[in-house]
Amino acid sequence: MSKLLTDEKRITDFFACDVFDDKAMKEYMSAEDYAAFKEVTQNGSELNRQLADKVADAMKEWAMSKGATHYTHWFQPLTDATAEKHDAFISIDKGGKVILEFTGKNLMRGEADASSFPSGGIRATFEARGYTIWDVMSPAFIKKSQGGAGVLCIPTAFCSFGGEALDKKTPLLRSMAYLEREAKRFLALIGKPANRVYPNVGGEQEYFLISKEDYLKREDLKLTGRTLFGAAPPKGQEKNDQYYAKIKENVLDYMADLNEALWKLGITAKTQHNEVAPSQHELAPIFATANIATDQNQIIMETMKKVADSHGLKCLLHEKPFAGVNGSGKHNNWSLCTDDGRNLLSMGKDEESHRTFFLFFLAVIAGVDDFQDLLRMSCASAGNDRRIGGHEAPPAIISVYVGDKIEAMLNDIEHNVGEVDNIKEYLEMGVSTMPKLKKDDSDRNRTSPFAFTGNKFEFRMVGSQQTLSTPNVILNTITAYTLSRFSDIIESKKGENLDKVLSQLIYDEYVAHKRIIFNGNNYSEEWTKEAAKRGLYNLSNAVDAFEALKRKEVRDLFISNGIFNEVEIDARYRIYLTDYSQTINIEAQTALSIAKTRILPSVMKYQGETAIQLESLNKFGLGKTHLEKIEILDKAISEFNNAINELEAATNKARAISDLKQRAIACRDEVNPKLDNLRKIADDMQLICDKAIWPYPNYQDILFRD
Ligand code: ADP
Ligand code: MG
Repeated sequence: MSKLLTDEKRITDFFACDVFDDKAMKEYMSAEDYAAFKEVTQNGSELNRQLADKVADAMKEWAMSKGATHYTHWFQPLTDATAEKHDAFISIDKGGKVILEFTGKNLMRGEADASSFPSGGIRATFEARGYTIWDVMSPAFIKKSQGGAGVLCIPTAFCSFGGEALDKKTPLLRSMAYLEREAKRFLALIGKPANRVYPNVGGEQEYFLISKEDYLKREDLKLTGRTLFGAAPPKGQEKNDQYYAKIKENVLDYMADLNEALWKLGITAKTQHNEVAPSQHELAPIFATANIATDQNQIIMETMKKVADSHGLKCLLHEKPFAGVNGSGKHNNWSLCTDDGRNLLSMGKDEESHRTFFLFFLAVIAGVDDFQDLLRMSCASAGNDRRIGGHEAPPAIISVYVGDKIEAMLNDIEHNVGEVDNIKEYLEMGVSTMPKLKKDDSDRNRTSPFAFTGNKFEFRMVGSQQTLSTPNVILNTITAYTLSRFSDIIESKKGENLDKVLSQLIYDEYVAHKRIIFNGNNYSEEWTKEAAKRGLYNLSNAVDAFEALKRKEVRDLFISNGIFNEVEIDARYRIYLTDYSQTINIEAQTALSIAKTRILPSVMKYQGETAIQLESLNKFGLGKTHLEKIEILDKAISEFNNAINELEAATNKARAISDLKQRAIACRDEVNPKLDNLRKIADDMQLICDKAIWPYPNYQDILFRD
């Protein structure tokens, strides 16, 4: 159990003790340098070398006082993981003496060999060298091993020699800048200027916790992150007795240590509870600026795994570790705020803010409608394909839940308010007549992939092991795009009455985009039909979703606003397809290995033993059931062997295809169904064999351990 807490220390005493935050900066920097650096982080002013040297020196002194001996430029390559290369602070001076040194240059920019990270072909056309560039807004922190090895981590972006983004942070920062630019322009045009505008993100993280002992016996979990075999247990989640249930002691101890580790890293771990599936849990921190929240989510995932290890547990972050029970997602709560504390997606109290709310609200909705496929693409992966649309997670169709009250208001605007001139008055009146939106009013529908929940949008399609970056790049970009479109309209009507122009805008945008609004049950078949009638996308799988990157409007959106250039878009398209096929190929190879070397020999052995028993029983004229069992097993063994051969053939065929898209299609349409078929036969055999001979722990033992 957590040492700090049993010592009766307050959380506030050690919160962020391993972060180079304001408190540490004030202690290690002069007041003047601190103020100058704040200008850089808060107002985006330029960081000169002199100041960078001072910040670096302060950082080094602080880090060493915490036991750090190394620093690293911590970055997020085009995988869902993070990367780090450690350098000690030691250096040699001119006289050959060992000194400790960390300069502004070391802090601001690093060089990393880019050749072993996925580059989607960027590397072939440019030099192999890559650069890491400090994200000054996201605070540096110290990672410590259990034994006390400490490294100062500097959050950085990772680019190629030619400046192409080779990571997930660069586009996020670009999209935030674009959103800020357009939100400020729009706010200025409607007479509500702001100095700064940021997206805020709160990422709720779901995970499974199982015993390490079981984990180590499951090659599928070790190699693929999910179970490729396993019959459904007699009890699953059908009784709904797990969600919010009392948290078991050992899990609570794990959570206590996890929280403490996160608090030390300045991460506001706040909410924890049991999730719907057995052995499934959730953690949510308090929201932060999008780039910081994204960095923090990476640290949360890493810390979850690390702390589990020290508790004899394993934390599973795969989207679907167990068939038949819920998978894990990551809810991405997103809102827009100004530096003077306005949440632009909050209804607010005064009438003006009411209208501003509707404008921003519709900007998001219009963006989602125009770029549904892109938003869907932002969480497409082989892993998430196993979860999305499975009646436990959002369907593959993107729609927006706005709640009955807001929909009624929008309907009034469309049908009852009459003249556009009246919209402003209606919205003003709405303030006094409409009861204030409560969270309950807006959060009832859990089946929606994209729900407005009071003062933020909650995107629920994101997979549990995916980075928060991509969905937020898309949310920022599509909202910025719509705001720029709105601003263009307002500018083109210069000289006209602004109230009227804005009212017309609200009316027009609602009418044009209301097809994306859906408050009903997203899991129902009627919705699938209705969505098709409305002309909404239904991209049921990742391979289809990746095609969003080929659509002209999507490419124009990225290229003309500096989010991705042509090369970067194509690189991502190739990386996504490659990752998809590789994932399925690894799953197939793992399944084949388990099937051939573990399941088949075990079942054959069991059948052989039953046959020996039958022989001796025959002496007494007995053994009818034994014979039946042997025959059933024989049939199953032969089917299983065929299924092995079929999967092997499909895998070999897919691997031989050189075109990335065709290979991914073969994995989706040929390999995946064969993989599922092999599993079904194995799971059926598991249910009729002696548990003692089965080569890996079963679902009930893994999911319902004590
Ligand atoms: P839920 O009912 O979905 O669990 P909560 O209201 O507890 O929702 O919030 C879930 C997440 O949303 C938390 O990470 C929280 O900090 C975040 N959140 C709350 N308000 C905002 C906001 N205005 N912008 C972004 N995220 C927010
Ligand atoms: Mg939520």
